[in-house]
Amino acid sequence: MKIIVGRLSGFCAGVTFTVNKAKEVLKEKNTVYCLGEIVHNESVVKMLENEDMVTVESIDEVPNGGNVIFRAHGEAEEVYNKAKKRDINVIDLTCGKVRRIHLDVQREKENKFIIIIGKKTHPETIGTQGFAGENCIVIEAVSEVEKAYELFKKSNLNKAYVVSQTTFSSKKFYEITKEIMECFKEAQVNINNTICDATEKRQDEVERISKDVDKMIIIGGKNSSNTKELAVISEKNCNKVYLVQDKNDLTSINFNKNDIIGIVSGASTPKNDVCEIKEYIENKTIKNLS
Ligand code: SF4
Repeated sequence: MKIIVGRLSGFCAGVTFTVNKAKEVLKEKNTVYCLGEIVHNESVVKMLENEDMVTVESIDEVPNGGNVIFRAHGEAEEVYNKAKKRDINVIDLTCGKVRRIHLDVQREKENKFIIIIGKKTHPETIGTQGFAGENCIVIEAVSEVEKAYELFKKSNLNKAYVVSQTTFSSKKFYEITKEIMECFKEAQVNINNTICDATEKRQDEVERISKDVDKMIIIGGKNSSNTKELAVISEKNCNKVYLVQDKNDLTSINFNKNDIIGIVSGASTPKNDVCEIKEYIENKTIKNLS
C-alpha cells in the first residue's frame, strides 16, 4: 500500500490564527461566546467549549457587555453595529483576507453594482453581502449571470465590481466571470479574484493527487464548503472518493495491500486528524493481512 498525504493538508493560516487566538482569549476571560462554529470541526469546537467557549447562532444570544468571538469567516456590518449598541466586546478574528474584501466592497458600492461569486448560504458570503449595500447580488452558477445583469440594469449604475468567496472553486469562478464579461459587455466591469491562494493551491494539489490514486480520503466537517469542493474535484479523476469527518467514518471502507490512497483535508481540519487517519488506515490494512 502507498499513502500520499497532501502537503497542504491541515488548517489554513486564517484558521490557525483564529484557533490560537481563541485559546489565548479563553485563558484570560471567563465565558467567551462564539458566533457560529469556530471551525467546521467537531473535536476543535469541543476542545474550546471545554475551556468555557459557548457557541451561539445569533448575536442576540450574547448578554449585554459579554465577550464574543467573530470567527475567520467574518460577520456582516449589521452584526458589528448590534454588538456596539449592546456594549458587547467583540474579539474580531476575521481572517485578514476576508476583512480586505469587506473593505473593498464597502468602498466600491458607492458607485458600482457588486457581484459576489459564492455560496449564498455560506457565512463568509453572508458577511460580505452585509457590507455591499442594496445594489448587490450573490451568484454561484453561470445560469445566474443573466439575473445579475437584469438587477444591474435596474440599479441605474454603469459599473460593476466582482469579488469571490475566498474558498470558492477557482474553476467555477473563471467560468462565471467569463460569462459576466460576455453578458456585461456594455458596462465597465472590474473583476477582483479574491479566492484565497491557500484555497487555490489546495485545490490544485487535490487535482494532482486524485489522478494518481485508487481511493481518495477527504477529511473535513459536514458543513465545510471548501472540503466538499475538494471532493467534487477528486470525483472527476477518481471513482472512489470518501468524505470523512474522523476515523469512525472509515470502518466500512476496504483497504487493499496494493491500494494507492490519497489523503487530504479541508482548511478547518487540524493536521493531527490527518496523521490519525493515515495511521488508522495503515493499521487496518496490516490487521487485514495478518
Ligand atoms: S481560506 Fe484563506 S481567506 Fe479563508 S480563512 Fe483560510 S487563509 Fe483566510
